[in-house]
Amino acid sequence: MDKEDKFPGFEALCNIAKLFASCMNDYLYVLDLTQDTYFITENARGRFALPGGIFHDVRKNFRHFVHPDDYEDLIKDLDEVCSGRKDEHNMKYRWIGQDGYPVWINCRGRLLRTAGVIPHLMVGCINEIGNSQTAADNISGLLGESSLHEHIRQMAPALRNAMFMRLGIDEFKLVNERHGMDYGDFVLREVADCIQRCLGPKQYVYRIVSDEFMVLDLTGADYNQMKRLYQHIRCEVDSLVARERYRAIYTISAGLVSLADLDNKHYDYTSYSETMKLSEFAMSEAKARGRNQLYFFRQEDYSAFLRRRYLNSCLRQSVSDNFRGFELYFQPLVTTEDEDLYAAEALLRFRTQTDETISPSEMIPLLEESSLIIPVGKWVIRNALMFCRKMREKYPSFRVSINLSYIQLLKTPLFDDIRGILDDLLLPPDCLIAELTESGHLEDSAAVRSIWGKLRGLGVTIALDDFGKGYSNLTNIGNLRPNIIKIDRSFTLKALENSYEFDLLLHIVKMVHGLGLALVVEGIETAEELARIALLEPDYIQGYYYSKPCTKKEFMNKYKVK
Ligand code: C2E
Ligand code: MG
Ligand code: MG
Repeated sequence: MDKEDKFPGFEALCNIAKLFASCMNDYLYVLDLTQDTYFITENARGRFALPGGIFHDVRKNFRHFVHPDDYEDLIKDLDEVCSGRKDEHNMKYRWIGQDGYPVWINCRGRLLRTAGVIPHLMVGCINEIGNSQTAADNISGLLGESSLHEHIRQMAPALRNAMFMRLGIDEFKLVNERHGMDYGDFVLREVADCIQRCLGPKQYVYRIVSDEFMVLDLTGADYNQMKRLYQHIRCEVDSLVARERYRAIYTISAGLVSLADLDNKHYDYTSYSETMKLSEFAMSEAKARGRNQLYFFRQEDYSAFLRRRYLNSCLRQSVSDNFRGFELYFQPLVTTEDEDLYAAEALLRFRTQTDETISPSEMIPLLEESSLIIPVGKWVIRNALMFCRKMREKYPSFRVSINLSYIQLLKTPLFDDIRGILDDLLLPPDCLIAELTESGHLEDSAAVRSIWGKLRGLGVTIALDDFGKGYSNLTNIGNLRPNIIKIDRSFTLKALENSYEFDLLLHIVKMVHGLGLALVVEGIETAEELARIALLEPDYIQGYYYSKPCTKKEFMNKYKVK
C-alpha cells in the first residue's frame, strides 16, 4: 500500500471485512488502537473462545482466547506495532478453540499509515495453519483429512450407504528407517497411485495421516464389492513391491466401516469424528490380526475393545491410587495324607469403583499388556508375604504361593525385589513358593532360567503351575527345575472321567515322585473326586472341597489366627 493512501474509518473497514469473510475460510480483523477496540469477522466466533465479535480493552480480553504460553510474546509484538516501531505484525501462535483445545494460527496484520496522521488502525487476517497442513498433501498428491471432512460435510444427505475403508501401509516405519525418508515418500506416492488406479466413479481417496489413506465409497457398494476393491489394491501394492525388486517389502491392511450399519440418521460433526475413530479401530484390528488383510468393523469387537480400554484405565487409576480396589484372596493347599494346612495360594482380585469384580482371567492379560503387572506384581509379593508372616505366628512352617508373570521375570529385578521384601519383613526364603505358568516359548530363555536358578539357590520353592493345560512340555521340568508340579483342574477332570487319562496322571505322579519333586492336584471340588485322586498319592490338594479362595480375614478366621 502506498503511504499516501487515505483509509476508511473503523466501522467502514469492519463492513468491508464482513463482505470478504463471507467468501473465505480465514478470519479478518480490524484493531482500533486509540479506542482500544477489536473487531473480528463472525466466522471466528463459532471457532474460538472469543468474548464477542467486537470488544474493548484488547490486551485484557486476549487473555480469554490466546494460549497462555503465547500471550506475552503476542503482547510484546503488538506493543511494537502500536508504538509505531514497526508496521507489520506476523506471528504463528495458538488461540483456544471453542472446544477448549489450542488451534495453531498465523496472524498477520498491517498498520494503516496516512501521511501526517498518527496511525490508529490495523487490519489483518488470521488463518489456521494446522488445517492448511491437512487440506492437501504434496507427497502423495492426494487431498488430506480436512478435505475429506469438508467433502463429507457437503455430501451429508447422500452418505447413508457410504463405506469408509481406511488403509495403512504395514510397517511403514521400517521402510523409512531402512531406506530413508525419500524412499518412504516415493512409497507413499506410489501406494497412493495404486489405490487411485483401483477406484471408479464415486470413489475417492484421501491421505489421512502419515501412511494412512481413506477411501470414501459413495456407490452403495456392499461388503463383497469392497472386499474385491481391497484385494485389487493389495494386488497393485504387491506388484509395486515386485517392480521395485523387493527393495523394501511391505503390505497393506484395511479396516472397513459401513455407515449403513452405524445407524446415523443425522450425519454431523460428532458422527464424522466417530466414523474416523471407528475406522481407526477397524484398521488397527486388521493389523492386530496379522496385517495384510481387510477387517470389517463389528460392534462386538469394538465393545470388547472399549471394555479393555475402560478396564485399563480403571486399573491404571487404581495403581496410582495406592492399589485401591485390588485385594488378595487366599486358597489353602493341604497335605493329602492328613489334611494339614501346608500353604495358601494368593489369588488377585480387582473391584472397580462401580463395584464390578473383575476376574483374574480378564485382568491379568490386561495388566501384562500394559506392563501394570510390574507394580501390581510387586504389591502382590509384599502383601502375600505380609499375610504369610501373620499366619506363621500360629503355623511356623506356613508358606505362601504367588503366581508370577513372565513380564515380571523379564522386565523387573524380580530376584532383588523378592529378596528385598523378604529381608524387610524378616522372613526366610522358604516361606515363599513362586509359581510360573508355562507359556510355551519363554521357558528356554536363558534369562528366565537364570532368575529361576537364583531363586532356587536362595531357598525359594519353585512350582510349575497349570501342568496338563495348554503348552505342557516335559522338557520344562528339565529347564525350569521346579520343586513342585501343580496339575491343572482341566487335567484333573479328564483323569476323573477317563481311565486312560487317569493312568496317564498316575504315571506322571510316579515320574514326578521319582525325580524327587512334589505334586499338587488343583481343582478338587467333592469328596468323591478327592477319594479317587487320593489313590494317586499326590502330596498336596487344592480345591473348593477344602475352601474356595477367600479374603485374608475369612482365611484367618477359618484357621483361627488372630
Ligand atoms: P491358577 O494359578 O491356576 O489358580 C488356580 C485357579 O483355580 C484360581 O482361579 C482358583 O480360584 C481356581 N480354583 C481353585 N480350586 C478350584 C476348584 O475346586 N474348582 C474350580 N472350578 N476352580 C478352582 P482364579 O483365582 O480365577 O485365578 C485364575 C488364574 O489367574 C490363576 O490360575 C493364575 O494363573 C492367575 N492369577 C491369579 N492371581 C494372580 C496374580 O497375582 N498374578 C498373576 N501373574 N497371575 C494370577
Ligand atoms: Mg497358580
Ligand atoms: Mg494352576
